[in-house]
Amino acid sequence: MRKSNQNKINHTSSYYAATANQKLNFSALQESIRTQVCIIGAGFTGINTAINLAKKGYEVVVIESARVGWGASGRNGGQLISGFTFSDKFEKEMGAEVAQSVWDLGAKATDLVRKRIEEFNIQCDLKEGFIEVALNRIQKNELIERKKDWDIRGYGHSLTFVEKEDVTKYVNSPNYIAGLIDSGSGHLHPLNLVLGEAKAAKDLGVKIYEQTKAEKIEYGKTAKIHTGNYQIEADYIVLAGNAYIDKLNKKLRRMIMPANSCIIATEPLDEERARKIMPEDMAVCDLNTILDYYRFSSDHRMLFGGRFNYSGTIPSDDRIKVEIRKRMLKVFPNLDDMKIDYAWGGNVAVTINRIPQLGKLTENVFYSQGYSGHGVAPTHMAAEIIASGITKDWDMIETLGKVKHIQLPGGKWFSGPAMALGMLYYQFQDYFASKR
Ligand SMILES: Cc1cc2nc3c(=O)[nH]c(=O)nc-3n(C[C@H](O)[C@H](O)[C@H](O)COP(=O)(O)OP(=O)(O)OC[C@H]3O[C@@H](n4cnc5c(N)ncnc54)[C@H](O)[C@@H]3O)c2cc1C
Repeated sequence: MRKSNQNKINHTSSYYAATANQKLNFSALQESIRTQVCIIGAGFTGINTAINLAKKGYEVVVIESARVGWGASGRNGGQLISGFTFSDKFEKEMGAEVAQSVWDLGAKATDLVRKRIEEFNIQCDLKEGFIEVALNRIQKNELIERKKDWDIRGYGHSLTFVEKEDVTKYVNSPNYIAGLIDSGSGHLHPLNLVLGEAKAAKDLGVKIYEQTKAEKIEYGKTAKIHTGNYQIEADYIVLAGNAYIDKLNKKLRRMIMPANSCIIATEPLDEERARKIMPEDMAVCDLNTILDYYRFSSDHRMLFGGRFNYSGTIPSDDRIKVEIRKRMLKVFPNLDDMKIDYAWGGNVAVTINRIPQLGKLTENVFYSQGYSGHGVAPTHMAAEIIASGITKDWDMIETLGKVKHIQLPGGKWFSGPAMALGMLYYQFQDYFASKR
């Protein structure tokens, strides 16, 4: 958390903050107010729910304890990825029909982002194309099964499976034994997307207050949100704090595990060199649980990220530089001459079943969280579902509210040693899979 001399919380010093293409500043709340809907959290979930409601004529206020896009939305890997993966257990529990409709939501989410970008002419370096790469036979089989499953379920974009010899046409690293190319996914500059969306929300009449933290909520038919010296009365509340929800709602906090993910940005490569490394300029993820994800920025920097730890505390920028650089060099040893210009981290909210959690805490309090490191597209779908739950145009929120989500005992405890153990377990799983 970076504070200026006015004690304001500013964006983390990421490549994105350094290349933000608009200066949006919203003042803090300076009086007590009343509104129809108060949204807490100005990331993709909060801002897009606000847009959807404002379009339907609702009076909407968004409050954000730091800056618009300060959380995961403004600092993520920028990978715009379709789909949720869920287990057979989930399908058995919810039934095939519900499972298919949840799957459809994931499959259509990236199209919502494209629609937003087009509708509001948002400049955020959108590029199409994503390849998921396998490091071992188990992961290769997972990709083969995924393609089969998605083709049967009716994914509206093409999926192309490639063997080892062809993977290098997309990612010039010898590490991978197969890949699955998804034409429906891609990558973008996430901070510029959320800032563009916030500008659109403002133009639609949404009132946004930065540096305004919700400290306590009094639930009731008219709810009251306490923010320091001022209060907001609202008919509806939307909790969109995701991995940063912390003490505001203990129940939601216990449903997620905040984990760190960290990213480095190299100095710019010349374009020819960048294209030798990734000829098609796609976004890339491997299939490890403690995964590597990377892509080139529009100015040809390698943005390389990786899941880091489950301690809930973001490591120092210097440590991120050292650790993530090591991981980058395992994939691309020839980048060892490149200076690292930026390093930053953020929290992702992981759920036990890896499915986002949407629902209602009471009749007029809605929430969405737990995108498990995979939220750029799903947050936009969640925003549709929450908004139409409030306007009562679509009852998907009721369906999703029935999904069983495990609550973890003692949120804080679970962001400490037990999470570290969990991380170790997954590292072992990735290691043993690599030996098969
Ligand atoms: C390093 C990193 C890399 C990632 N990479 C990818 C990727 O490549 N692709 C992908 O799909 N997903 C990725 N993710 C996940 C994705 O960014 C998130 O799932 C998504 O942005 C969540 O959006 P959100 O709006 O729900 O939450 P956030 O963007 O985190 O917004 C929540 C906001 O709520 C505010 N808030 C919290 N509590 C309060 C309060 N009490 N009062 C007022 N405001 C409050 C916070 O300040 C924050 O700004 C990544 C995440 C991180 C951290």
